Amino acid sequence: MLNTLPGYFALIKTLQPVFEDLKSTLTQIGSFYSDTTKVPLYAAKAGNGPRQILITAGTHGEEQAAPLALAEFLKHDLKHYLKEYTFTIIPIINPTGFEKKTRRGSGNKDLNRYFGKVDCFPENEIVLRYLKNCLFNHHLDMHEDIDQQNLGAYIYETGDGSADPQIFELCYKFLDWISLQGIKVNKNPKICGMRSKAGIIPRSPGAKTDPQIGKLGSLGGCLVLKGISKRVTTLETSMNCSLESRLHIQRRHLNFWLQTEVG
Ligand SMILES: [Zn+2]
Repeated sequence: MLNTLPGYFALIKTLQPVFEDLKSTLTQIGSFYSDTTKVPLYAAKAGNGPRQILITAGTHGEEQAAPLALAEFLKHDLKHYLKEYTFTIIPIINPTGFEKKTRRGSGNKDLNRYFGKVDCFPENEIVLRYLKNCLFNHHLDMHEDIDQQNLGAYIYETGDGSADPQIFELCYKFLDWISLQGIKVNKNPKICGMRSKAGIIPRSPGAKTDPQIGKLGSLGGCLVLKGISKRVTTLETSMNCSLESRLHIQRRHLNFWLQTEVG
């Protein structure tokens, strides 16, 4: 099945020489079966700086701008940050969803509801097993919003950043930059049923005490709860925008935090 849809393997193939240029290797971290096809998952480490950064994309297969923008970032930008940071990068968490441009992964479920849960799927297990001994200062989890009502882009800030005025100021700076590009920011008081502060959804001060985070089963929340990452920032670009705009914003978002890291 996957052989007729070359998107995932084609993207991995373009990333392999990119990591080689960075003196890194995109390595297989596990595999699972989709029908009768064995599907490998890949990750890479790069850089040798003191701050530990995790970048993940492609948990939701239809949110194509996230892995594609990450690929552009890896090709053109990552080399500028290798002395300040050590990166762990999982470019596509949901290969079959990326191939089919659909949200769900194996088991026909939303993988971002099953991290840390007993009834999870192979993709969840492979990713958590790979990350279990890590400790990240900051996790950038790349997502998009289907946004059928054209409400605009927004940010989730989970963990240490969710109660830090300095982090909020930086988030607003980035959201203001998005507005300056003529792209809408969702400033509604509630987004997806959650309390939002002018485009930022704080995932609770003291995330460990927020039962919703554990219940949600998202990768970002799960890693904060396990003490693997201190902070997660998730930018949700609106899929109402052109792919070109979304790539531009997502790529800029990664560069923004790497140029302004705090704490
Ligand atoms: Zn998503």
